[in-house]
Amino acid sequence: MNDKHSAGWTRRRFLAAVAAGTMGAGHGLALRPSLVWASTDNGPVVDADFPAGNIIFEEQREDALYLRQDSRDTEGWWFYWYFRVQGAAGRELTFRFTDRDVLTAGGPCVSTDGGETWSWKGRESGDPEFTYAFGDTDEEVRFCLAVPYTETNLNRFVEKHADSPHLRLEHHAGARKGRAIERLHVGCIDSEPRHRILLTARTHACETMASWSMEGLLDAVLADNELGAYFRENVEIAAIPFMDKDGVEDGDQGKNRRPHDHNRDFMGESIYPSVAALREFGLTWPDGKMRIGMDMHCPWIRGGGDNPGSNERIFLVGQPDEAHWREQQAFSDLMENAQTGPLRHYRRHNLPYGETWNTLEEPRTCSRWMATVEGIRLPTTIEIPYAIAAGQAGATEEVTADSARAFGEDLAKAMRVYLEDG
Ligand SMILES: [Zn+2]
Repeated sequence: MNDKHSAGWTRRRFLAAVAAGTMGAGHGLALRPSLVWASTDNGPVVDADFPAGNIIFEEQREDALYLRQDSRDTEGWWFYWYFRVQGAAGRELTFRFTDRDVLTAGGPCVSTDGGETWSWKGRESGDPEFTYAFGDTDEEVRFCLAVPYTETNLNRFVEKHADSPHLRLEHHAGARKGRAIERLHVGCIDSEPRHRILLTARTHACETMASWSMEGLLDAVLADNELGAYFRENVEIAAIPFMDKDGVEDGDQGKNRRPHDHNRDFMGESIYPSVAALREFGLTWPDGKMRIGMDMHCPWIRGGGDNPGSNERIFLVGQPDEAHWREQQAFSDLMENAQTGPLRHYRRHNLPYGETWNTLEEPRTCSRWMATVEGIRLPTTIEIPYAIAAGQAGATEEVTADSARAFGEDLAKAMRVYLEDG
C-alpha cells in the first residue's frame, strides 16, 4: 500500500496542519446552552448534548412533552431541531412543538440505533406533534427534522476510501470556534486535470440532506466503474462539505444567522473564515478550468406542489446572467436524460431569477460568487428537499440518506456529459 496516499495519511496531515495553525481554544462547546433535561424524577430524559443536537425542552404534562427548536442567533423563524430521548422504554409519548410547525411532510426522522440509520415516521395530522411508542428495549431514540450529517459521517466516508490515491483531505480553514474545516480533493489529483469542479454545502448549517447528495457524488467519482474512471482521468473536484462547520456541529439553524449567514458573506469583507478562505482559493485553484461550481442546499421545510422552486422538488436557483441561466437549463436537460435513481430533477422546477424569493440584487451568495470565477460555465445553487421530492414519472419519493446519495451519483453522470459535450 502506498501510505503516502492513504486517507489515514491525509487525516494525519490534516490534523498536523490543524495543530500548526492558529486554531482557537477547544471546540467551543462551552458556548452552547444547557442541552440536557430530565423531565421528571423517573421520567424520560430529553437532551441535545451531541453533535448537531438542538432542542429546548419546556415541560412534561403526563404523556405529552412540550418542546421547541432552539433559534439561537437566527433572525426570524427557522425550523431545525434534533433531540434524543432516554428512559422511555415501553412508554407512549407525544411530542408537541410550541413554536410553529417544524415537521416536514414526512413527519420527523427517527433513529433507534444511536443515529446510525434513520426513517421517516410520517405525519399524523396537521398539528406540529407526533406520538411515538417506545419499544421495551428502546433505551435511546433520536428524532430529527431530517437525516443528520456531521463530521462523523464525513470521517466515515474518508475512511471508506482510505486506500484510494484519488482522495486527499486538506485543511481549508479554521472556524471561529476553533474547529478545522475540511476540503476534499477528489478525482484527478495527481496529474493536471482537464476540468475542475467546486462543490460546497452547509453554508446553511441545518440543510443536512444536501450533504448526502454531495457524498453520493464524491462516491461516484471514486467508484470502480467507467463513470469513476472518467472523473479520475479528467476532473479534479474540490469539495467543502461544511462551510459553516461550527453551525453544523453545534446544531445551529445557520440560515439567517445574525448579522448575516454564510451564504450572504461573499461580498465586501467576509466575516467567516471558511468564506474568506474560499474566495482566496478561488483566485488560484481554478486556473481557468473550473467549469462547474455547485453550492448545495435544502429549500424551505415543505410545500410548493409541482411548481418551479417547490420545497418538495429538486431545483436549480436561476442566475441573473442570461448565459449562466442557459447553462443551468441545459444541465437540467442532461439530468433528465442521465438520472436513474429514485429522486428526479426536472428542468421545469428550476426557479428563474426574478421569481418568488430569487430576487437578491447584490452578489452576496456562494453561487453568485462562483459565477465570477474565470472560466466558469455553470455556477449554480441546487436545492434538495428535506423529505419529499419528485420521483420517476412525477411520483413523489422520500428523500433519505440512500436516495439523496443516489441523486448525487446522477449529478455525477450529468456532469460528465456536460463536460464531455463542452
Ligand atoms: Zn440554504
